[in-house]
Amino acid sequence: MKKKIVTKFGGSSLADSGQFRKVKEILEMDPARMYVVPSAPGRRFDGDDKITDLLYRCHRMQAAGEDWQETFDLIAARYMDIAEELELKVNLREELERIREKIAAGASADYCASRGEYLNGMLLADFLGWRFMDAEKVVFFNAEGVFDSEKTNVVMMALLADGLPSVVPGFYGVKPDGSVHTFSRGGSDITGAIVARAVKADTYENWTDVSGFLMADPRIVRNPREISAITYAELRELSYMGASVLHEDAMFPVHKVGIPTIIRNTNNPEHPGTLISLTLPVEPTLPTITGIAGRKDFSVVAVEKAMMNAELGFGRKVLQVFEEAGISFEHMPSGIDSISVVVSGEALAPHREEIVRRIAELTQPDSLTIHDHMSIIATVGRAMVNNCGTAARLLSAMSRAGVNVRMIDQGSSELSIIVGVDDADFEKTIQAVYSEFVG
Ligand code: ASP
Repeated sequence: MKKKIVTKFGGSSLADSGQFRKVKEILEMDPARMYVVPSAPGRRFDGDDKITDLLYRCHRMQAAGEDWQETFDLIAARYMDIAEELELKVNLREELERIREKIAAGASADYCASRGEYLNGMLLADFLGWRFMDAEKVVFFNAEGVFDSEKTNVVMMALLADGLPSVVPGFYGVKPDGSVHTFSRGGSDITGAIVARAVKADTYENWTDVSGFLMADPRIVRNPREISAITYAELRELSYMGASVLHEDAMFPVHKVGIPTIIRNTNNPEHPGTLISLTLPVEPTLPTITGIAGRKDFSVVAVEKAMMNAELGFGRKVLQVFEEAGISFEHMPSGIDSISVVVSGEALAPHREEIVRRIAELTQPDSLTIHDHMSIIATVGRAMVNNCGTAARLLSAMSRAGVNVRMIDQGSSELSIIVGVDDADFEKTIQAVYSEFVG
């Protein structure tokens, strides 16, 4: 079978005509790159506007009865520049006029935002000489706006089966009533993954403006190493903890069918980037850990009661209180006579009193304390399983750095070790763990 690669290019990769040229070169380097999913033009420089933001602004201003013509002119000029500089044939003026009229007639926010990808897809298809496959024909949501993966897969597979190189704009699709609906922000990543699944691609390449994932946040660790390969499960742990390059929902369509994703840099196409795959060998040359990520501002609600372990339903009652308040919990480390429930500080704030009252009512604890401003840091690595002593190393690195460990939790997958520390120790902990395992 012929090799097929689906490529998705982010907003900065397609921000102007120079970037369009780079994209074309990348596509021409490998004939297997037959499908492109573009985002809307992003920022060309710091402080520049993203087209999607401008489109949302037009919609807001229209709804508020304000004059949005100037904003729309900015959008039109960005596309006109690209079309003129690349000498494209597409009738852009007509398209822009139609969109202007629709916005003026009160089109939905989703419709307005989706035009960023729609127009960029049209221009790119024209520039490449490829077919433009409007996402409205191949990406479906149900009436409630939930993505319909099975219908999408069947229809998209059929429409792309002829093997013609195609451009499918990212971010949006259509609801049963024919109205345009979008994914959440950054959703072109999801469209790319959906196309990869439908055409049974060998690889899903996600082209952006960084050369893959870094082992730690560069604002905390100076020059962190790049991650050359990571499993979907590891990535899930890291992105849950706040590391983000890829839209989280973008992993599922490809993960499910075992298609590897590669994060590549449009501005440095020689760089191999980061490979994300279902399974990966644990090579002896790998560092023990794959990455570190964390988030600040959690609260820990600790409930203590002697003989709690023998009291049937104790944990359920505690959790029920959080459920009643609509707060989901992140972790729940427990001791013999205590349970701690870790929740987002922001989510807890408006319900504090009610939570304390209800837990006291339902469980009659010996003590109930809330500890705020705690960070949770996950050290993730598939190689940790075979490496005994990883937790010991991690804890002694933290103790050498003078960090007080308030909580430790190792998932049963042994893929990550999670520690809780005071927010003030957040950066110090990440630095200490990084230098212990990476150097
Ligand atoms: N253009 C959309 C956004 O800015 C979708 C995307 O770029 O993936 O969120």
